[in-house]
Amino acid sequence: MKPKKVLISGASIAGPTLAFWLDRYGFQTTIVERAESLRLGGQNVDIKGAAKRIAQLMGIEDEIRASDTGELGVLFVNSDNVTQASLPKGESNLGTSELEILRGDLVKILYKHTKDKVEYLFGNQITALEEHDSGVKVTFQQGEIRDFDLVICADGIRSRTRNLIFGDEPVVRPVGLYVSYFTIPRADSDSRWARWYNATNSRVIVMRPDNEGTTRASFSFLSEPKDYEKLSLAEQKEILSEKFFDAGWEAKRVLAAMECNTDMYFDAISQVIAPRWSKGRCAMVGDAAYCPSPLTGMGVSLSVLGAYLLAGELSKHADHQKAFGSYDNLFRPYVNKIQKLPPGVPKLAHPKTKLGIFVLNTLLNIISSKVVQKIGKVFSSINTSSTSDDFELPEYEKL
Ligand SMILES: Cc1cc2nc3c(=O)[nH]c(=O)nc-3n(C[C@H](O)[C@H](O)[C@H](O)COP(=O)(O)OP(=O)(O)OC[C@H]3O[C@@H](n4cnc5c(N)ncnc54)[C@H](O)[C@@H]3O)c2cc1C
Repeated sequence: MKPKKVLISGASIAGPTLAFWLDRYGFQTTIVERAESLRLGGQNVDIKGAAKRIAQLMGIEDEIRASDTGELGVLFVNSDNVTQASLPKGESNLGTSELEILRGDLVKILYKHTKDKVEYLFGNQITALEEHDSGVKVTFQQGEIRDFDLVICADGIRSRTRNLIFGDEPVVRPVGLYVSYFTIPRADSDSRWARWYNATNSRVIVMRPDNEGTTRASFSFLSEPKDYEKLSLAEQKEILSEKFFDAGWEAKRVLAAMECNTDMYFDAISQVIAPRWSKGRCAMVGDAAYCPSPLTGMGVSLSVLGAYLLAGELSKHADHQKAFGSYDNLFRPYVNKIQKLPPGVPKLAHPKTKLGIFVLNTLLNIISSKVVQKIGKVFSSINTSSTSDDFELPEYEKL
């Protein structure tokens, strides 16, 4: 039988992971990426629970560990850079987790392990899709028209391919927070610890060490949706300058460095809620389908897990409808659980007043105390539903 031809839109985490597994199961895979090359921006991302096991199965765990950012934990500092609370790596469910890597490094690893087996089309995207009895006719932006058996959107939270297939059925639900990530030069005040600074009016600046001699900075602030994500890079920088010029601490340094930056990511933090993840011969994976938001620390893990399951189910069922149905049944309860944000998130971490910031730092101090951590560990071993290790990974057969 001829191998099934699958087109995947998006070359970040979900797309290449899906292609990796589909290739193992004998599918012929093409990835189309809108950007001219891999997008390597962003900060540390976590690989947790079942996603860690998948990284082992893919044979990339050692490479991920070798790219560890070396972050020792998070210090919560005041405007004089005096530590108010600290969360060392791996000692609580907050802060730096056991397996962390720069998002861009993970993207590079996944690309390295797929580039020789998968056809990559950069600087291109799908502009039209027409499903027929035996496949999907795809029109690309550069004019080419090709036929595929299946098309999968893995092109992130603002997926346009998703709109072509599902219209406005999936809802992108903002959580009331804007975040920007960008790289800046390292300064003497930077160390192997991430530093988190709360300014009044619900503003946060975070600086994290990376393994490239630079620092990963982020600005975040509470705000109702204002469509800032649709503005140009220059306009977004202007908004951030206005918001943070009087934030104190090292805000001026970060703003000055931001001006020279070209890899900035800026978005209204949101979740994607989709009543179905497939339609006919098309399906979705990763943030395009079920973005949980970076507030859960599970964006990458859900993408890796979803890609593994989708590929596995496609290898198990000759009928793609059955495979898509099974992927949904298996994964949706877990996704629903991960998407549930704890009460008070993101407001708790972004207090408005000086008093609110004092209360937050006091709470963090309590959380980081050894005694409370021990109690927390006992509770999390009893209540396993609150951990990310509880997805039982199905095994699929290699070809
Ligand atoms: C530049 C960038 C920086 C990020 N930084 C962070 C971070 O610091 N922390 C964090 O928690 N999360 C970050 N994220 C989000 C994080 O990558 C995702 O939550 C998670 O990895 C899920 O990945 P994904 O592959 O589903 O989607 P994404 O990582 O969002 O990737 C989607 C890919 O699809 C491409 N694309 C978009 N539209 C189209 C189209 N029409 N056709 C073809 N390709 C398209 C994009 O260029 C991108 O490569 C970032 C995402 C990006 C794109």
